[in-house]
Amino acid sequence: MTDSSWCPKCGVYIFTYKGAGPHHCLPQFQVYCDEWNSIDDPCSVYANTAQDAAEKFADRYDADGDYTVVSGTNIKVKVWKLGEEHSAGTWFEVGGAPVAQYNAREMDYDDAIAMDVKAE
Ligand SMILES: [Zn+2]
Repeated sequence: MTDSSWCPKCGVYIFTYKGAGPHHCLPQFQVYCDEWNSIDDPCSVYANTAQDAAEKFADRYDADGDYTVVSGTNIKVKVWKLGEEHSAGTWFEVGGAPVAQYNAREMDYDDAIAMDVKAE
């Protein structure tokens, strides 16, 4: 029996199985973005690496805005580990792209003709 679930703190999916050790949350990073916050009030992001934190921040930034990053506007962020000074941080330029997804469904001949699709 498993009771795997999302960690409410760091957001990773925790697979619970016999012999699995206790979950350890991802490291916490601080992220500063000029258009979002001040460097003295950074955003906390749980992530594997500083680069991962920059990308996760962009996802949060986009979700609360107009999806400007995936629409082609890059943002500049500074990332550092929680507990360190921001002067020790690393700058990242973060871009994105919308991901295309296609779905096919069967349609009958009459519907195909109605859509002007060549059905022969
Ligand atoms: Zn966790």
